[in-house]
Amino acid sequence: MKTLILYIDGLGFNRINKENTPFLHKFGNENSLIRLKTLLAYTGIENTFITGKWPNETGIWVEYIYNKNGIGNFLRIFPLHNKYLSYFYALLNYLKGSTFLSKFYNIPRRFFGVFNNSLKEGLWKNEYFHNKRFLYYSWPFFVINNKIKLDFIKRNDEYKVKKFIKKFDDNIDIYFLHTVDLDKASHEYGVNSENTLKEIKRQDEYASLIVNEFKSRFNDCKIVIWSDHGFLDINGFVNIEEKIKKFKNVDYFLDSTIARFWFKDADTKNRVISELNKIKEGHILNLEEKNRYNIPLNREQGEIIFVVEPGYLILPNFYQGIKGCKGMHGYMPDKADLDGIFLINKKLNRKILNMNEALGLLYNGSIQF
Ligand SMILES: [Zn+2]
Repeated sequence: MKTLILYIDGLGFNRINKENTPFLHKFGNENSLIRLKTLLAYTGIENTFITGKWPNETGIWVEYIYNKNGIGNFLRIFPLHNKYLSYFYALLNYLKGSTFLSKFYNIPRRFFGVFNNSLKEGLWKNEYFHNKRFLYYSWPFFVINNKIKLDFIKRNDEYKVKKFIKKFDDNIDIYFLHTVDLDKASHEYGVNSENTLKEIKRQDEYASLIVNEFKSRFNDCKIVIWSDHGFLDINGFVNIEEKIKKFKNVDYFLDSTIARFWFKDADTKNRVISELNKIKEGHILNLEEKNRYNIPLNREQGEIIFVVEPGYLILPNFYQGIKGCKGMHGYMPDKADLDGIFLINKKLNRKILNMNEALGLLYNGSIQF
């Protein structure tokens, strides 16, 4: 059976309604629109979706972990901006066999050799795609049956949707497209800005266009539209760097909503913990919480993991730098409504789906419809 998997990055379940998303709303009513529970994670969300395994089963949770990075260490010496070095970083990783490409964002140069990517392979390397004829398009990768075409020119979703539709073909069974403009707009402008609302409407139109074209080409087909998370507006900042810059014997990674630390001595560790405990807008995760949120426990993820309360952004951080942004995700999912969607063209008796259950619904018959 021909299968379409449309992955709309950053479309919250709570954004689906008649006005914002007329197509998805109607299509959901006629079929099944299910709340897809999100995770306190970054890279780990889509990885859980496609592997059916939680981050603490795969070790894939956030993008960078505490692990030596030879390419990063080499690129550290070149006096170029992170933005340009990121191209070389991606290219060298690709030549080394990596199919999950990352950037340096605003990671300080002294940490280039200290942190490495947790994930090395693109989603299409996972079992779900094995022995299947597939098209996987998530920029910069355009992959047909494991044959990779790389495209480093920035493309918007409109371009990708057109290119994707043109490839509908009897010789391919699974079609996977990842759109990202809504994630970008929501970060930049915030949840309810005009630009973001316009982008939601555009994503709804893309979905309508793709689904209608797909149905007209292949009448017996499975259609899945899903998203990883929604968004919250940022209404406060937490400056962690300021509080820890006096300490020498600590390495740290400042994700946008998570701060992770590694220590070279016990005294520094105790002093950093006591600094972090003074911050009211967040806290250090205890073991019970790590288990509840399915966070891997190995040291590479962080000796100490600090998370901020919903609506706060760690600033400066290694992604947004010093500039910040207006919208964010990556909060404790039981404290904020950040769930995504799972829409499938079957009648299912489910209201809520866990991220690790989606894979069963992608496979035919492994969960009863
Ligand atoms: Zn994002």
